[in-house]
Amino acid sequence: MIRSMTESPVQFWSSEVPAGCWSPVLKEPAARALCTDCGLSRSERAKRCGQACQFIRPDYPRLEQQVHGRARLPYRPDELHFGPYQSMYQASLRSPLPGAQWTGITTRIAERLLEAGEVDAVLTVTSSAEDRWQPVPVLITEPAGLQICRGMRIGFAPLLALLEPALARGYKRLAVIAMPCQAYPLRVLEQELGFERLDVIGTPCADNTDTPRFHEFLTFFADDPNDVTYLEFRPDHYVELRFEGGRKQEIPFLQLPLAKLSPDFFPLTCRTCVDYTNVLADVVIGSMGGRGEQWLIVRNERGRHLLNLLGDELLLRPTGSAGKRTSAVTGYLRNTERAASGLPVRRMPNWLRPIMSRLMPYMGPRGLEFARARVEMKAGETLIHLRQMAPERLDTMVPEHVRELAKPYASVIDPDGS
Ligand SMILES: Cc1cc2nc3c(=O)[nH]c(=O)nc-3n(C[C@H](O)[C@H](O)[C@H](O)COP(=O)(O)OP(=O)(O)OC[C@H]3O[C@@H](n4cnc5c(N)ncnc54)[C@H](O)[C@@H]3O)c2cc1C
Ligand code: SF4
Ligand code: SF4
Repeated sequence: MIRSMTESPVQFWSSEVPAGCWSPVLKEPAARALCTDCGLSRSERAKRCGQACQFIRPDYPRLEQQVHGRARLPYRPDELHFGPYQSMYQASLRSPLPGAQWTGITTRIAERLLEAGEVDAVLTVTSSAEDRWQPVPVLITEPAGLQICRGMRIGFAPLLALLEPALARGYKRLAVIAMPCQAYPLRVLEQELGFERLDVIGTPCADNTDTPRFHEFLTFFADDPNDVTYLEFRPDHYVELRFEGGRKQEIPFLQLPLAKLSPDFFPLTCRTCVDYTNVLADVVIGSMGGRGEQWLIVRNERGRHLLNLLGDELLLRPTGSAGKRTSAVTGYLRNTERAASGLPVRRMPNWLRPIMSRLMPYMGPRGLEFARARVEMKAGETLIHLRQMAPERLDTMVPEHVRELAKPYASVIDPDGS
């Protein structure tokens, strides 16, 4: 792989780096207990972790009010699950962007903001020069620069370490493509940072881990993790992998060798994360509620404006929902609880797995029901793991809405009622 020289002190994976991509050498992160290295501890505001971190004492109702003008309304359909929103859609770009994770709606919104001159820079991630799966934060000032950012990396990116450098370079109008645990501290600090304009384009996030640990998973499929170019857990219950040279593989979830992963493969942060759907972003672009298309959540007027920037490039359809989630969520949480308590997990017999794998896309929860199921699984999982690994954090770290989502499964989550 030949890597081109740019004016950026840090080099990137891509062999052709367009002008206007800049990433500084960062300070080392401070040692923190539950931490996904969002970048704050590497900044001048490192001491603000105590107030700004999602993993300490989050206050979602206050921040939802600050960002969207109101907290979620539990009686409004789906707000308990997905957070405050104006509208939701299934969506795709008429011309999908090569290299994007889905059709590239996330990238295209950011490109349009730069094309229209509405922001000075976009803060997002690209791949490190040594490892295509390792995210590296980068400031982009030209639309073409976003080409090297498309797609998903598995790993933690110290994105927020570039907020102060962005201001120092004079970028007062900024768009940030943020994961939920980056969006939380960003919103806490938003007012004191003093940007003239700050757009937050979010994606949902679950089951992340650090990049070196993720290689453990990739080596089931390739000798060199860098030979795997794409991975997606699709809502039809298949995982899709693509490789250097163009080969593609589709494997049903049920047939993945997940039991072979080390017990700490997923860090406690991601097993106990309380914001799957990025409730503090202006617009959220995901997949799990999209029935094979992308899933858009417009949360406020700013998010509506971001979507409007795409005009006719975007195809929008109403969301749909089918199937019933309760037994899938119950089964998942029962296994999670048994595994967390050191008990053997009840596995499906090998002969039944291929049959179930074929039936799941037709029988299991689909569309919004699939997204609700995943959000409930995550809520229950958070309570199970915190009870086992950090019970002192249960009272402070888990918002009321997460407890509410987990309530129907209380006897499964905590069979002893402790
Ligand atoms: C670790 C992870 C887990 C996810 N889990 C889910 C899920 O369970 N359900 C769901 O609906 N969606 C999930 N997503 C979001 C989904 O994979 C897509 O990113 C999203 O649907 C947008 O697709 P797109 O084609 O519009 O993105 P693109 O146009 O390809 O843009 C993706 C953007 O995300 C940024 N990005 C990629 N990896 C990272 C990273 N590790 N850290 C920070 N930024 C990154 C890229 O730089 C790029 O700007 C997850 C994303 C990540 C990174
Ligand atoms: S705010 Fe960021 S850097 Fe600080 S502890 Fe939390 S995740 Fe880590
Ligand atoms: S799962 Fe949650 S904690 Fe982990 S990286 Fe994603 S948003 Fe952050």
